[in-house]
Amino acid sequence: MTRTAAIIGGGVIGAGWAARFLLNGWNVRVFDPEPSARERVHAVLDAARLALPGLGDVALPPEGELSFPGLISESVRGAEWVQESVPERIELKQKIYQAIQLHMEEDAILASSTSGFTPTELQVSSASPGQIIVAHPFNPVYLLPLVELVASDRTAPDLVARAQDTLNAIGMFPLTVRAEVPAHVADRLLEAVWREALWLVKDGVATTGEIDDAIRMGFGLRWAQMGLFETYRIAGGDGGMEHFLGQFGPALKWPWTKLTDVPEMDAELVRNIASQSDTQSGALSIRELEAQRDRNLT
Ligand code: NAD
Repeated sequence: MTRTAAIIGGGVIGAGWAARFLLNGWNVRVFDPEPSARERVHAVLDAARLALPGLGDVALPPEGELSFPGLISESVRGAEWVQESVPERIELKQKIYQAIQLHMEEDAILASSTSGFTPTELQVSSASPGQIIVAHPFNPVYLLPLVELVASDRTAPDLVARAQDTLNAIGMFPLTVRAEVPAHVADRLLEAVWREALWLVKDGVATTGEIDDAIRMGFGLRWAQMGLFETYRIAGGDGGMEHFLGQFGPALKWPWTKLTDVPEMDAELVRNIASQSDTQSGALSIRELEAQRDRNLT
C-alpha cells in the first residue's frame, strides 16, 4: 500500500520534503494556509524532477499523489509521517502540534524541521510528547541526503529507529545527534563560519564574492567528499591526526580561543553584505541560481 506523508508548512523546506517523499513513491498532503504555497510546491517539484535524473543510477518508483487538504485534520489522518516545516517560532510550533496531535495516528511520527529548537522545547505543551522528534534537513531537501535526528528523553524509545528506517527508505542519510543542543551539529559548525565571514566583510578584508570563492574553490570542494577530521588526518601525513595536532595545534590556539566575538549587525553592515551579495550574483535570479546549484550538486 502507498505510504502517506503530511507536510505542514509548504515553504522552502516543506516543499522540498514534499518533492522528496513524492519522488520516492509516497502520497503527500501539504497543509499551508498561504494560497501561494501550492504554486511554490509545484515549482520545487518541477525542479526536483529536472535534477534527480542527474544522479544517474538512482531508480525511482512511480511518483505518489499530491494533494492540498484545507484542514490539518484531513492532512494528518492516516499519514504515517507528519513533517512540520512552519516558520521558526516556538509558540507557533507548539500550538500547531496541539492541532496536529488531535488527529494524527497514534503510531505516526511527528517530525520537526527546526534548525534551532530542541525536542524538549517543542514538546513543552504537547499531550503526547513521545510522538515528537527533530528531523532537521538541508536545502534542497530533494537532493541533500543529511537529516539530523534529535530525540529527548520524552521521545518514545523506538522512534529514532523507526525514523531512521523511513528516512533511509526515501534515500536520506539520518544522523542521530547524541544530545540536545541549540542548532544541533551542522548549523553549529556553520555559525562559526558565518561569524568569521561577517568580520571579514566588516573589516574590508574580503567581499562576499571573494569569501564564497575561497569556500567553493578550495575547502568546500574538499569537504564535499571528506569532512574536517579525515581531511586533517591526511594533512598529518604518516603521523596522522596526532602529528597534525602536534604541529598545527599551537598556531591554532590563538584563533580558537580569541575569535569568538560577533560583530554588531548594524544597518550599515547588513546593507554592505546585501549589496555585495546581490552584485556577486550578477543578473542571475534566485531561480537561475537554484538551477545552477542543482546541476552542480547532481
Ligand atoms: P518559509 O517561511 O519558507 O516557510 C514556512 C511556511 O509555513 C510558509 O509557506 C507559511 O505560509 C507556512 N505557515 C505559516 N503558518 C502556518 C500554519 N499555521 N500552518 C501551516 N503552515 C504555516 O520557512 P522555511 O525556510 O521553509 O523554514 C521552515 C522550517 O524549516 C523552520 O523551522 C526552519 O528553521 C527550518 N529549516 C529551514 C532551512 C532553510 O534553509 N530555509 C533549512 C533547514 C531547516
